[in-house]
Amino acid sequence: MSSAHAKRQNALRAMLEERRLPVLLVTSLTNIAYLTGFRGTAGAALFKSREGILWVDPRYTLQAQEEARGVDVIEERKGLLKAVAAWLKTHKVRQLGYEETHLNCADFSRLRQDAGRGIEFCPVTGLVEMLRAVKDPNEVAQIRGAGRITAEVFEKVLKIVKPGVSERDLGAEIEYLMRKKGAEGAAFETIVASGARAALPHARPSPKLLRENELVIFDLGAILGNYAADMTRTVYLGQPSRRVRGLFSAVVEAQEKAAKSAFPGVRAGDVDAVARRTLAGHGFARFFTHSTGHGVGMETHEMPRLARGEKVRLQAGHVVTVEPGVYLEGWGGVRIEDTILVGPAGPEVLTPAAKDRWIVE
Ligand code: ZN
Ligand code: ZN
Repeated sequence: MSSAHAKRQNALRAMLEERRLPVLLVTSLTNIAYLTGFRGTAGAALFKSREGILWVDPRYTLQAQEEARGVDVIEERKGLLKAVAAWLKTHKVRQLGYEETHLNCADFSRLRQDAGRGIEFCPVTGLVEMLRAVKDPNEVAQIRGAGRITAEVFEKVLKIVKPGVSERDLGAEIEYLMRKKGAEGAAFETIVASGARAALPHARPSPKLLRENELVIFDLGAILGNYAADMTRTVYLGQPSRRVRGLFSAVVEAQEKAAKSAFPGVRAGDVDAVARRTLAGHGFARFFTHSTGHGVGMETHEMPRLARGEKVRLQAGHVVTVEPGVYLEGWGGVRIEDTILVGPAGPEVLTPAAKDRWIVE
């Protein structure tokens, strides 16, 4: 078996043993892909001390046999969870861990009914996600590649940013260029938000045309080899006033200070506090309305969260965003975001687009 998947499955088994859980049912497709390599859109996997099983429907039998490592692939025609229930019954399983946040209520009730009496169902949250948070060198290489494409695309698109261009056109151009540069696509819907719309942290690109004397927020990320990057830059069209300059430099300062504090051993909440404190020093604390960052990997938002009071300590191999923003309703906003690798010797930026070329004339 490929060593990466063997390592992951062994780490999972160690966690199960620690929790005295004999069997874990994995229903998150991202977690299945992480543990086995299978990337289909339907499947259920089960892990016990020495065994791993992956149930798939006939559409995916060949693909699973080709991609999946460390599990026996079983083709199932009458419902994956029905097959799981039957397996639990025949093997007289007494205790089953299941991914609470990745099994809907209807599926869970049916599974419990089909599995019969005598099984204790133990909800498990974030177990595989905890493993996923710490990236191995191959995963870091994918995110680094995604980050490089993201940065290059932004710098290229910057050349066509001018009054009269629509947010939607810029969003489309960004996603087209990502694919042209070899990415599988955009990891999430690209945000291009100009003028007053830049006060909405998650604005979708609209038909609105860019105008002179507006801030424009670009939030983009390519996906490469199943791994995402996430980056935000803000630019200004025209000659910024002192107020705009002050706002921009405060956000850059908060972003860079927080990013530079992301060392192994530091609490996630402390990185958030650095960003918050810096903005507070400029009088912007109450306009920073979201948390400072999040883990990035196979999903754009994963563990760990960089939020107020978050006690988790950063570890070498964590990949997180640092993205403070200031939003002034009805007027506009500034956000700067990088994807950062927490390296053994400290933080490293994986989305290396310039921040100082923000004035577009
Ligand atoms: Zn973002
Ligand atoms: Zn983000």
